[in-house]
Amino acid sequence: MFKSALGAILGVSILLGFTACTQAPMPQSSPAPATAPAPPVGDPALEALIDAALIDDYAYDKLGELCDTVGHRLIASPGMKRAIVWSQASMLAAGFDSVWTEPALVPHWTRGKEWARCVAPVEFELDMLSMGLSDGTDGQTLEAEVLAVRDWDEFEARADEAQGKIVLFNPPWEGYGTNVQYRVHGASTVAKHGAVACLIRSVTGVSLGAPHTGMMRYADDAPRIPMAALTVEDAGRLHRMCERGLKPRVQLSMEAANHDSTISYNVIGDIRGREKPEEIVLISGHLDSWDVGTCAQDDGAGVVLALAAARQLVQQDLRPRRTVRVVHYTSEEMGGSGGQAYLDAHRHELDQHVMALESDSGSYAPRGFSVDADSLIIADLARMAAPLARIAPEHWRVWPGWAGVDIGFIVREGVTGVGHRVDGTHYFDVHHSRADTFEKVDPTDLARNVAAIAGLTFLIAESPADLGPAPVATLPGGSPSVGGH
Ligand SMILES: [Zn+2]
Repeated sequence: MFKSALGAILGVSILLGFTACTQAPMPQSSPAPATAPAPPVGDPALEALIDAALIDDYAYDKLGELCDTVGHRLIASPGMKRAIVWSQASMLAAGFDSVWTEPALVPHWTRGKEWARCVAPVEFELDMLSMGLSDGTDGQTLEAEVLAVRDWDEFEARADEAQGKIVLFNPPWEGYGTNVQYRVHGASTVAKHGAVACLIRSVTGVSLGAPHTGMMRYADDAPRIPMAALTVEDAGRLHRMCERGLKPRVQLSMEAANHDSTISYNVIGDIRGREKPEEIVLISGHLDSWDVGTCAQDDGAGVVLALAAARQLVQQDLRPRRTVRVVHYTSEEMGGSGGQAYLDAHRHELDQHVMALESDSGSYAPRGFSVDADSLIIADLARMAAPLARIAPEHWRVWPGWAGVDIGFIVREGVTGVGHRVDGTHYFDVHHSRADTFEKVDPTDLARNVAAIAGLTFLIAESPADLGPAPVATLPGGSPSVGGH
């Protein structure tokens, strides 16, 4: 981790008038940036690294390869097994010094066949996706009247109407952090009042008729009822029918099933540091995904960005002082057991982790980095990263904020966490839906993001300052994980 005294060593005095945001994964309107004057003289090696990354099409080619030839990467699926092989082969071909896997105990959930339709007072098909970790309908077709509500407050007021019904939450879009709560907690909330199934409006602000999946959780003290997402359009239609007093009835059939936990693997590759090989700069994305689309933005992009950024160092013949470690985490979408496994395996050397970066917000236009650490460390990092601002002129920011689900496990133990940030305007349009495919990634933005991550990685890994080791200390705040980002 960074030593927070570094600011004093380097004569930096940047005051940040706010504390770290530990909730918002995608800051829509960020607080004022931590600005810092650009250094007087550019580092030629850094400038050459950025220039090379900006014109390199390696990342775009690899992302196409991952999406089109490996496909989706649902945990324990054949696609995830292919992806683990692809990841190791890609790291070796990129010239990493060592590549290995580490096991993680992960949930095993399968979707199976599923359908839903409105059968009264008019018949029409509902386009739906089961929520990850939901149980199915036990080989039956479940049929019940729909109780549609706008939000938690309306449900609480009408909870005595839920008995025997399918409860539909159709909240307006207020952002991922708010709307995802219905996905995570909706089923158990309504099951406690006798509902037989739970449907939600997909967790997205924009829809062209595609449902969005994602992880849900069952509470221990509620019956386990099936749960699925409808399209924004179908959820709205059912809700409006209810408001007209038409009492729509819906049939639901889901083969979704939870199986015994199984073993998956984090894939890890190192470029060994030339002076301080024991000190680690970790950059990462998550290799697993949902099972619709080919998951280019979530998180094929992050996987390829970490890989391509480290490879760019090799390509430029740069071997930084510290070890650069790429981690392709498993099982982010189903609760983060890959991140937990990394913590368990590396707890003894966390004080050698100078920084952990995660890219899990897609590859749109770069915006900078959010940093989960104390304010002095954030100020140091903002100053060090200032030469990268040319990658995103007028938009570059380094600000206090949440860093990532997978690295959150070691960040909560005191490692400095860095979230790679991009323009979030359209991420949730495709997130966890069949629309998340390779076409949605812009090659220029992808190359700019490689440049940003490669640049920061080089700056931290090459820094002559004493960035660590420092005693492990849990920072205040921490990084709560919603899971299923
Ligand atoms: Zn993700």
